[in-house]
Amino acid sequence: MSLPDGVKTVADRLRAARLNPQEDKIRRRVLSILALGVTPTVSILAERCEIAPDHIREILGRLAAIDLLLVDATAEIVLAAYPFSATPTPHRVRLVGREVFALCAVDALGIPAMLQEEVRISSHCGHCGALVEIQARPECVTRYVPTETLVWFPTSENQCCPVAESRCPSIGFFCSSDHLEAWRQIKGQPPGVVFSLPEAFEAGKEIFGSLLAGASPR
Ligand SMILES: [Zn+2]
Repeated sequence: MSLPDGVKTVADRLRAARLNPQEDKIRRRVLSILALGVTPTVSILAERCEIAPDHIREILGRLAAIDLLLVDATAEIVLAAYPFSATPTPHRVRLVGREVFALCAVDALGIPAMLQEEVRISSHCGHCGALVEIQARPECVTRYVPTETLVWFPTSENQCCPVAESRCPSIGFFCSSDHLEAWRQIKGQPPGVVFSLPEAFEAGKEIFGSLLAGASPR
C-alpha cells in the first residue's frame, strides 16, 4: 500500500526543485549533520562545505522556500529537514551511538532506509499515550509493540505553512484501531488513511530511501 494519490512528499518536492549541485550538496550536508544528532547552523555548514556564510544563508532560504527544511527566525539555525527535527518530538529514534528526533511516524520509519542503519524508535499512542516501540533494519521492520500498532496518515492538505507544521503533527502511531477510532471521533473524523506498521514502513522507505541515494555532487 502506498501513499494516497495527490499527497506530495518531500521526495516529490525535491524532484520538482531541480537543485543545482551546490544546493544539493548543502541539502545533503544538512541531513548528514542532523543524522549525527547535531543541529546544523550557518557557521557549521560554511566550515564543512567551504562556502561563504552569506551564500549558505541564501541557499538555506531557497531550500526552506520549497519546504525541504525549516530555519529559525534568525536564518542561522536549521530547525528541521525531513525526516529530522533538531528539537525533540514524540518520535525518538536511536541509532548506533546517538539519538535523533523524527518529524512524524512515517519520517521515523523512513530513517533506516535513508541511512542504511538499524534503528529503535520510541513513540506514543496518539490517543492514550501508551509507549510504542519499534525496531527496524533498512529493509524491514523486525519487531514492534504493541503488535496492533497502526499509523494514521491525514490526507487533508493545508497550504498555510510547511508540512512539518501542518501535516506532520498528525502523522502518528496508535496502539490499536479502537484508540485510532476514538481519536478520530474527538478530532471530527478528519480525512486520512490507516497504515499497518509494515505498510507505514514501506511508505517511509519509498519517501526517504532515495533522499541520500546517488553520488554526492562535488
Ligand atoms: Zn492507545
